[in-house]
Amino acid sequence: MSTTNMPFDPENMPSESGHFGNYGGMYVPETLMTPLFELNEAYREAQKDEDYTNTLKHYLKEFAGRPTNLYFAERLTDKCQGAKIYFKREDLLHTGAHKINNAIGQALLAKRMGKKRIIAETGAGQHGIATASICAKLGLKCVIYMGEEDMRRQSLNVFRMRLCGAEVRSVSAGQRTLKEAVNEAMRDWVTNVRSTHYIIGSALGSHPFPMIVRDFHRIIGEEARRQIIEKEGSLPDEVCACVGGGSNAIGLFFAFLKDSSVKLTGVEAGGRAIKSGEHAARFAGGRLGILQGAKTWILQSDEGQIDATHSVSAGLDYAAVGPEHAFYRDLERIDFDRSSDHEALNAFQTLCKTEGIVPALETAHGIAYAIKRAQELPKKSLLICNLSGRGDKDVQEVANILGNK
Ligand SMILES: *Cc1c(COP(=O)(O)O)cnc(C)c1O
Repeated sequence: MSTTNMPFDPENMPSESGHFGNYGGMYVPETLMTPLFELNEAYREAQKDEDYTNTLKHYLKEFAGRPTNLYFAERLTDKCQGAKIYFKREDLLHTGAHKINNAIGQALLAKRMGKKRIIAETGAGQHGIATASICAKLGLKCVIYMGEEDMRRQSLNVFRMRLCGAEVRSVSAGQRTLKEAVNEAMRDWVTNVRSTHYIIGSALGSHPFPMIVRDFHRIIGEEARRQIIEKEGSLPDEVCACVGGGSNAIGLFFAFLKDSSVKLTGVEAGGRAIKSGEHAARFAGGRLGILQGAKTWILQSDEGQIDATHSVSAGLDYAAVGPEHAFYRDLERIDFDRSSDHEALNAFQTLCKTEGIVPALETAHGIAYAIKRAQELPKKSLLICNLSGRGDKDVQEVANILGNK
């Protein structure tokens, strides 16, 4: 268990100014600087407050269902004839994905700050549902911004949020999807910042959000690292996860960053093809830029117009990647690969057939990579893949795509 000679200790990242090397930072309107500093301060204090950390532990266990299993996928391993494949079962959490870890942490933080109104934005709806659920549980007012197009595609999720007492506001600007919903949520926050906390759903946006979201998901990797040592007596050879904004991936990877023997691989959405508008693989077709608060890799035109993106999974369909991932990619500590729509759909079906688990389409991108990679690795090597969420939400979509084949 050697330590990499990384020039930076992950524990000290980001810097005071919110930078991961050249990435991250606070590129926001002046009016948001004070609330962001206050949030940073409140977060630092909460981390030292035993009341807060114990309450968080309590909700993660009793409400969300932690710890999650590290599950040996025996039939999938047999099929691949290579590395032993383990899944970190975040799909078994309440509301169906890892997102609840962060939603609970931030909702409790908001409460501690005396804020009684929560706003959030959602694309596929997973983050909206996690946020609406914990707001119901804690008695907080909840407003969710969602693109009109996403509301149409995810009407059942919209109803689910409303059942939990959330107000879902439709956003009809631009492509009418996640990016526009984020803009509306930011506008709301600027206006109502005294009463309102904005729960960002991925490791994205201005400092301190990428750090806060990462920290609330670090429990995924802390558990997985302990569990694999318990089960196998050693560290894994490789750990992989799908990357939208990058929260489930950094949550799982963080505990392994200093283990130089462990390869870390993030999997982006390759969509239909690596052509502008056809994918969401920022490291394949993107460039350095600034979007919605942070400097990072972005899919954009030569003039800096944000490209349209495409992925079969709404949760990976975003033009920017979390700044911490860009940083560790430069250091060659996290590698990136991608899975196409087609590969993800195949992996989705393979996991159903071999293990009886229906994964989210986002997750299926990571699984597609795991299946490919396991076949390249020697038998007895160990591969952990994050099963970030369950696929109930995607079953109708997959049925439509596969038709009656
Ligand atoms: C939202 C979501 C993702 C993508 O978001 P990250 O921040 O990259 O983790 C992946 N898997 C599931 C199940 C999701 O709901």
